[in-house]
Amino acid sequence: MAIIYFDNNATTKVAEEVLEEIRPYFCKLYGNPSSMHTFGGQVGVRIRRAREQVAGLLGCGPSEIIFTAGGTESDNAAIMGTLAAVPNKRKVITTRVEHPAVLAVCRELENHGYTVVELGVDKLGRLDLAELQEQLDDDTAVVTIMYANNETGVVFPIEKIADMVTSRGVLFHTDAVQVVGKIPLNLSKSNIDLLSLSGHKLHAPKGIGVLYVRRGTKFSPFLIGGHQEKGRRGGTENIPYIAGLGKACEMAALHLEEENTRVRSLRDTLEQGLLERIPQTLVNGDPESRLPNTVSLSFEYVEGESILLMLSNLGICASSGSACTSGSLEPSHVLRAMGIPFTAAHGSIRFSLSIYNTEEDIDYILEQLPPIIERLRDISPFWKDYVKASSQG
Ligand code: PLP
Repeated sequence: MAIIYFDNNATTKVAEEVLEEIRPYFCKLYGNPSSMHTFGGQVGVRIRRAREQVAGLLGCGPSEIIFTAGGTESDNAAIMGTLAAVPNKRKVITTRVEHPAVLAVCRELENHGYTVVELGVDKLGRLDLAELQEQLDDDTAVVTIMYANNETGVVFPIEKIADMVTSRGVLFHTDAVQVVGKIPLNLSKSNIDLLSLSGHKLHAPKGIGVLYVRRGTKFSPFLIGGHQEKGRRGGTENIPYIAGLGKACEMAALHLEEENTRVRSLRDTLEQGLLERIPQTLVNGDPESRLPNTVSLSFEYVEGESILLMLSNLGICASSGSACTSGSLEPSHVLRAMGIPFTAAHGSIRFSLSIYNTEEDIDYILEQLPPIIERLRDISPFWKDYVKASSQG
């Protein structure tokens, strides 16, 4: 069965070109860049090039790039590394809609005596910057706010936030895992102090990422060990994946335009098509400020998990905004924070596209999804109640 893949915010296919770049570093160029011999040394050259390739995409200096084992490590390192560098400050500000790689770290910090402020969002998933301004004080060590939300695609006004936070003398970190390769960045012109990215969201393998730390930023290493990454992250470098991430970043820079034109247009066609074909469908998140590849839709009065299973039987991959834990289908923390009503949150599905999606993929889902929703609504008691109530006026 052919796979129609609409789950690129979960992970992406490794680009063939990236795979080719990685291959030699397993069996041919397998030296350790810390070795004294030339065989190892030549591998160090590839790390330097990868650092430049990543820096090229981010618009920063190569020395500001630290390779990590992925987005989760970068987020942990950013928060723990800044807190360790400013030990006299005990407050952290974040948002209620962060990825667990940030939120769980912040909640753990509360157990260690930190004050953690989680900013709320409105029904469109937007932050209130006045609330952030009010919370910034002399005790605030770091503010960590995601660039764009992985579930809804809502993009926060990060440059404005970075200006606001840093002008108060507070360090600012952003989780840009869903943004890099989708929105142009120029960190040399930005007040962002630290930024996380993850390789597997931009067609590099899983298990490789980057933490950008602006030159001069107070930061203590999170993984302590050898002298690698100038002592900022110990551990023998994952050369194959570093090479792959470098290549992926170079390719992402070339594909930025396509992400914002062709991919955006496919996403819009999908969204419009589903809204036209399926009644009682809502778009989750701010339509004015969204990633070009993402749409989160709520099909009212049906369960997201059932939709996903039926799509999966047809080879269509998407994801839902609820997590099946201990038998109860709880809407995600993001949809709950937005106050999406129960009947909509339960039927939410995220479609996230990439440059590998085609018009045929969109046609296929526009043909297949409406009858699935109709069938599920036929057996939904909530839908029956809704139809009855609306016919009674
Ligand atoms: N942050 C965001 C916004 C994400 O979407 C993800 C992954 O889904 C992560 C962090 C974690 O990245 P990784 O899977 O590389 O650890």
